[in-house]
Amino acid sequence: MTDIPRLAVLAAYAADAEHSRGRRHPEPKPAYRSEYQRDRDRIVHSTAFRRLVYKTQVFVNHEGDLYRTRLTHSLEVAQIARTIAHALNLNEDLSEAICLAHDLGHTPFGHAGQDALNECMMDFGGFEHNLQSLRVVDELEEHYADFDGLNLTFECREGILKHCSYNNALQLGDVGERFINRQQPGLEAQLANFADEIAYNNHDVEDGIRAGLITVEQLLGVSLFSGFHAEVSARYPKLGGRRLVYEIVRRMINHLVTDLIDSSKARLQSSGVRSIADVRVNPGPLVGFSETTSESNRELKMFLRESLYKHYKVRRMTSKARRIVRELFGAFFNDPGLMPEDHQETGKRLEALRGPAGRARAVADYIAGMTDRYAILEHSRLFDASERT
Ligand code: MG
Repeated sequence: MTDIPRLAVLAAYAADAEHSRGRRHPEPKPAYRSEYQRDRDRIVHSTAFRRLVYKTQVFVNHEGDLYRTRLTHSLEVAQIARTIAHALNLNEDLSEAICLAHDLGHTPFGHAGQDALNECMMDFGGFEHNLQSLRVVDELEEHYADFDGLNLTFECREGILKHCSYNNALQLGDVGERFINRQQPGLEAQLANFADEIAYNNHDVEDGIRAGLITVEQLLGVSLFSGFHAEVSARYPKLGGRRLVYEIVRRMINHLVTDLIDSSKARLQSSGVRSIADVRVNPGPLVGFSETTSESNRELKMFLRESLYKHYKVRRMTSKARRIVRELFGAFFNDPGLMPEDHQETGKRLEALRGPAGRARAVADYIAGMTDRYAILEHSRLFDASERT
């Protein structure tokens, strides 16, 4: 028996589907679902969501079947976010929808791909994956007769746009306003960022060990890991291998989630916020770790940056990834006729509107939509004479 109710009562400062700011294209209310549940369902049925299964963050997709992909990452983020939202009496459905959509705009090959594409787009407005996620749900998905994109609610779109430059914000209308007015997003969006971070730091530890790029011994220098290593080893002195790592990592996740819930609760209480409007004008974000946990989380991130992301094997992979993205961009931008016909059409339409920047955007959209393996295949079709076109 559990005393945890299935649905928590929404706090006064939680997003309420009944009071959503609505969709860009008005639609009748859903009959059996809330507006945010409908958002979630549209995301799950989108083409970009399906592609996440073949996109990666650190490890390239074909390296092994056991590593996280962006799809499994997004599911883990959504799970963590629901737990936090429930405990804080925030809107679980909205948190879930934001998390499932948060990586839809990611290029192939994780951050290496995004950085390379951003460099290619430097003279044409740049490329930023958060903005691209919004572009996917607002414009690029082609599922509905009446509108482009998925026509999600304002709250979900706002949550997807985690960061944004001032200049880009000026072009974005309602979801750009908070960057211009320097306001906070809703709490469901705030917690989605933390759920993302908790998920990827911890699964990078697990996947990094599995790949043999980092070791348990090295991680003993990281306080968050070593503390739970001691706890697990004391309780299960003979435990080793994968189970040891899993037992430690699940404790790390639990610790981070619990700390986030407790310190966010305290902050919400002491801030005196009573509505979403109060949350928006609060001087800082209200969801966050305690100072101690913030510090140990930073230590873990630093370790991963130095030992995993800068590992020579990861660097070799990212260097290949950057070259693939750069060369694909160069080829398609110089001759859009090399792209499949529907992308050529988009290129012509955008070029007519915005000149070379429009052409570049169509190329960036095409490349960003590629999965890791599709990008590798397209690259060899274009540059390897022995490959079929
Ligand atoms: Mg993520």
